[in-house]
Amino acid sequence: MSTTQPLALPIAYLDGRFVSVEDARISPFDRGFIFGDGVYEVIPYYGGRGLRACEHLERLQRSLDLLDMPNPHTVAQWEALITDLVAKNGGGDQAVYMQVTRGVAKRDFAPPKGLTPTVFLRSNPLPRPTKAMYDKGLNCVTLDDFRWGRCQVKSTALLGAVLLKHEATQMGADDCVLFRDGYLTESSASNVAAVKNGVILCPPKDNFILPGITYDLMIELAQRAGMPLEMRKVSRKEVLAADELWLTSSTKEVIAITTLDGKPFGNAAHAGKPGPLFWKMLGLFQDYKQQLQTLAAAAE
Ligand code: PMP
Repeated sequence: MSTTQPLALPIAYLDGRFVSVEDARISPFDRGFIFGDGVYEVIPYYGGRGLRACEHLERLQRSLDLLDMPNPHTVAQWEALITDLVAKNGGGDQAVYMQVTRGVAKRDFAPPKGLTPTVFLRSNPLPRPTKAMYDKGLNCVTLDDFRWGRCQVKSTALLGAVLLKHEATQMGADDCVLFRDGYLTESSASNVAAVKNGVILCPPKDNFILPGITYDLMIELAQRAGMPLEMRKVSRKEVLAADELWLTSSTKEVIAITTLDGKPFGNAAHAGKPGPLFWKMLGLFQDYKQQLQTLAAAAE
């Protein structure tokens, strides 16, 4: 292995056993390896507690249903496994990655019935963005969304996203903002929302985007705080003329796009910098997490 970085925190879970990440092995006949025939989730854990873990496990169920794959565990079993993994890796703030593939079989596109799913979990320290990172924001390029028509499935078959992110980074950008038929979809691994004249514009949760758990949380926080929001198709023209552009995901939470296609982005009053509604939304996220930690501490 040529990488010098550790693969993950030391303990992983594979098919019924906690193992050292170095010892985790799967069959090369696994349909996840051969076809990308599997689904995954990434759940953020703060202070050893999951943020919207139930919602992530519900989305896992929806992804499995859309691929006609059985769920090998109940929600309670998943929660116990994840809690164990986080504890074995030292607790604190971790991003838990969990993957279920259809299992090992003779290579045939049509999935045979009765396979035993392969279950893999591991975790990483959760990145903590600094104030300087929020101030700087992200540099993105606009690209054509050529992924498949089932983007609502959180599938391990991610070649479209891999190539799009590769193209963006080769152009010197951090990531991409994607458009399909002239309308905003999302980014390679995050949802995207625009702000115009004080209104947050959110692409609809159809089959062309992943329904992000953080996206839902952002919408909920905006609504609770009385921030105007519209969920509807957002055209490329509207995005390019927006005052602010945000990216949301479980590991990034919310971050502003400050450069788009090589130019400072946003309303002239703050072009190239995060806008005022971004700072408001970031504050709402931070307050929300703080409240959860206080509640958790009180329950102990
Ligand atoms: N869209 C895509 C394509 C993703 O892969 C992700 C997750 N990294 C998201 C959106 C954000 O989803 P969540 O907020 O649930 O992490």
